[in-house]
Amino acid sequence: MMRGWLGMGRWRWALALSMGASAAALLPAVVKSGPSQADAKAPAAADPWIESHLDALIALYTQLHTHPELSLQEVETSKRIAEELRKAGAEVTTGVGKLGVVGLIKNGEGPVVLVRTDMDALPVVEETGLPYASKVKTRDKAGREVGVMHACGHDIHMASFIGTAGWLAEHKDRWAGTVVLVGQPAEEAVDGAEAMLKDGLYTRFPKPNFALALHCRPDEPVGTVRYCSGPTLASSTSLSIVIRGKGGHGAWPHRTVDPIVLAALVIVDLQTIVSREVEPSEPAVVTVGSIHGGTKHNIIPDEVKLQLTLRSFSEPVRQQLIAAIKRRVTALAQAHQAPEPTVEIEESTPPTINTPELVARVVPAFAEVLGSANVKPAKPVMGAEDFALYSEGNVPICMFWLGTLSPERIKAASSKGETLPALHSAKYYPEPGPSIATGVRAMTAAVVKLLPAKP
Ligand code: ZN
Ligand code: ZN
Repeated sequence: MMRGWLGMGRWRWALALSMGASAAALLPAVVKSGPSQADAKAPAAADPWIESHLDALIALYTQLHTHPELSLQEVETSKRIAEELRKAGAEVTTGVGKLGVVGLIKNGEGPVVLVRTDMDALPVVEETGLPYASKVKTRDKAGREVGVMHACGHDIHMASFIGTAGWLAEHKDRWAGTVVLVGQPAEEAVDGAEAMLKDGLYTRFPKPNFALALHCRPDEPVGTVRYCSGPTLASSTSLSIVIRGKGGHGAWPHRTVDPIVLAALVIVDLQTIVSREVEPSEPAVVTVGSIHGGTKHNIIPDEVKLQLTLRSFSEPVRQQLIAAIKRRVTALAQAHQAPEPTVEIEESTPPTINTPELVARVVPAFAEVLGSANVKPAKPVMGAEDFALYSEGNVPICMFWLGTLSPERIKAASSKGETLPALHSAKYYPEPGPSIATGVRAMTAAVVKLLPAKP
């Protein structure tokens, strides 16, 4: 299954690249050969509409950045997105899947293109030192006080999304059809897309012929776009294990079954699932992210809890990981005369597989506005997204990466041998102006490419 996907992906890739190259040959002189601080903004901001609206979009970004909200708490963010979509001229419905916002821009007969932004932030205390750094604190689901930060760049996504809505509404002479603008809550919790779809996103509103989204990239320069054809982001499965023992005094271990030692053996044993059971050409990850057990030096507890994340690109591999974990945990418990352990799946989201035919259509559009040197293929990553769910009912989907760092910052980090802050890092920050300008330029170009010209 996976090999089939990859094989097809590679073939389509070649097609996409050759189309990109031929489109590049027709590019006007504005196209730059490569990004630099001075010209990174140029191709994207060369659009006069974007240039004249960029300050307002940066102000929107700054407002969203300083007022981040956690997943399923995006009350004010959702209100602001609805208000901005209305201002742009969209027909707006709020409360879709509780906090989701849907904006429609109708422009006669034609296909339907969905553009999605996510709206949530993360429980992270910002450490960027920026003048507009978030100082927000709130309580998470468990009632703990946490900092809140847009550490995944969803504020850039929202500002680009509002820019895209405004541009499309004011350039109705360039396209015909319907654009569905989706402000989605709770991407980080992988809950939001499902909630909106269950609440009738594809039945109460026009069902899209194509769905598009962009995501910030913390390691690529501003002015660039990266894309995958086929597998793009992995599936994610959250799995919990309770290892049971028989508690007692730490000085009488022979009268107990020690779940701490058993948990240690389990953790080490799970490391060989990917290395020894999964076919080496299949990407897979098993990470134990949390372990909790015991209260005191000299007490052997009754149980230890583990939390795991599993990543893969195919359902058979995902099932193989789950089965191997259950088998190994159960067998180790038996070997140590421990009670039956529990293995439970808490949540999961499918892999994001970009539709090769759609990628092949939008990549030349990116190249036309950004320059072909600024539009390159990327490797799939093991991160996960709920954007995959928008493919419900065979809707072709494409999520592309948006470069957000100044080339100087990338160069400085590499000359010092430092790693750049990743997404979700307290130190990650994008260059707002050129990132948003490029986001609007790339997304509007893709939408216009998919809709016929106004008759
Ligand atoms: Zn994220
Ligand atoms: Zn994200």
